[in-house]
Amino acid sequence: MTQREEMIAKSLRAVRARIREAADKKGGAVELVAVSKTFPAEDVLAAAKAGQTVFGENYAQEGCAKVDWFRENHPEMKLVWHFIGPLQANKTRQVAERFDWVDSVDRLRIAKRLSEQRPEGLPPLNVLIEVNISGEESKSGVTPEELPALAREIAALPNLRVRGLMAIPEPENNEEARRRPLKAMRALFDAHRSEFGWDTLSMGMSADMVEAIEEGSTTVRVGSAIFGARHYPPKAPA
Ligand SMILES: *Cc1c(COP(=O)(O)O)cnc(C)c1O
Repeated sequence: MTQREEMIAKSLRAVRARIREAADKKGGAVELVAVSKTFPAEDVLAAAKAGQTVFGENYAQEGCAKVDWFRENHPEMKLVWHFIGPLQANKTRQVAERFDWVDSVDRLRIAKRLSEQRPEGLPPLNVLIEVNISGEESKSGVTPEELPALAREIAALPNLRVRGLMAIPEPENNEEARRRPLKAMRALFDAHRSEFGWDTLSMGMSADMVEAIEEGSTTVRVGSAIFGARHYPPKAPA
């Protein structure tokens, strides 16, 4: 093993241990999405060899290139890919053709394209609806008020399966301020989960994964705690 592979395997073990401890206290299983944006396919391979099977990517071009790299070089590895970044209409087809989940759906237009462009023969694309829970003007996500209507419309699309909600709360230094949006997401999830048959509440990243699990997250998306700090920006989209 190279030093880099060892570092990734070790960080992954540590993250898994923290998740397991918090999940055990809550009495439930929590899924880890390893966020590999900006890191090369070799790093994803190192994590996969250490037992990680679920990965998240933010940028369509970079993420699709990694999915293709694995299909070509490691078809024996059955990895699960989540698209977790903002998605433009002109990138929906390549994502619908390659990913298993899109966690960042916040507009009907994008959902319709994903449903139409999901290839025949693949299972329905799992989607999460992203909620702008901190109420910031610039951020993506629907408002809690808009959520039920959008969820109903997306649930009617044939090739998508809505699994639940995703949120990226604003970073906060103070614990109470960090927990507030997590609690609000949990309440929103609980208010609608039986109506829509949801099973996934994706919240929690490197800095707040334990708190998110304590507040009821079922899925955490963790990047830097596994792969290290992100040093270079993604390549500009073509
Ligand atoms: C980058 C990213 C993450 C992971 O963030 P870390 O702080 O590196 O764990 C999780 N979710 C989304 C949507 C991201 O863009």
